[in-house]
Amino acid sequence: MSDQHDPNESGDSGDEARFQPRDGVTETIAVLQTRLPDHHGLLLCLDFDGTLAPIVDDPEAAEITPTNAELVDRLRDAPGIELAVVSGRGLADVRGRVDVDDVTYAGNYGIETDYGDGDIEVHPDAAAAESVVERVRTRLEDELEDEDGVAVEDKRWTTTVHFRRAPDRAEAVTDRVEAVVAEHGDDQLTTASGRAIVEIKPDVETNKGAVVSGFAAEADGYLPMYVGDDVGDRSAFEAIDAAGGVSVYVGDEDIGATATVASPDEVAALLRWIADDGVDYVGGNGAVDETH
Ligand SMILES: [Mg+2]
Repeated sequence: MSDQHDPNESGDSGDEARFQPRDGVTETIAVLQTRLPDHHGLLLCLDFDGTLAPIVDDPEAAEITPTNAELVDRLRDAPGIELAVVSGRGLADVRGRVDVDDVTYAGNYGIETDYGDGDIEVHPDAAAAESVVERVRTRLEDELEDEDGVAVEDKRWTTTVHFRRAPDRAEAVTDRVEAVVAEHGDDQLTTASGRAIVEIKPDVETNKGAVVSGFAAEADGYLPMYVGDDVGDRSAFEAIDAAGGVSVYVGDEDIGATATVASPDEVAALLRWIADDGVDYVGGNGAVDETH
């Protein structure tokens, strides 16, 4: 039997008979096809760097791919889809880079949240530690001034030290950051390592997992889903697991997620399927014949 699919559905992939998702994408689609009909909607939580935007050497230069930007915009208006962008970046920073309104944004690993109305809520304990974070940041700027390729980023409620451009200095810089935090952090701060970064943040119970759990609790009857690429996303994967949701890891190893996709382009393939077809599988949207 010849392939009768409409070539116009192929999107980016030229005149192949039809868009052919690779394995992780196919796997995720199969899970969503099975599970969405039992839910009122999909709570789709997306990381930014490495997920919607390719990783680049200079974090200031990171940009959402045009396709992902278009798809986030489409999904924002899709029935039965709740969209949240969850990032370690400062909230205003990540919101500016996605640049789609009426979407929930969580920044600084959940210290800051905008539920889509433009107002920013700040975790009270983090707000209380602002001056300590500032003091440590100033100190780090001084101490790391001579380190080529190392940058100290002011995210107001937190600080990130980047060393993607100085990979051989990773351990030494991390040690120095930890020493400064121990000496000047007044026992109010903690550090966490990510991909070529060290985060300095108030020692409060916020991480991406807590953010995703909170969103999932509010979106009753929705299937929670998280897509992310970093060690900072692991708490989110665990939270999604606990909530019975779907986790998609962007990378090249098995970290126990529901499925693994290779790149922000494959994330786009997944988002495109959700926007084109997945919405019809959501229980109550009703366009998929129940005999399927
Ligand atoms: Mg990321």
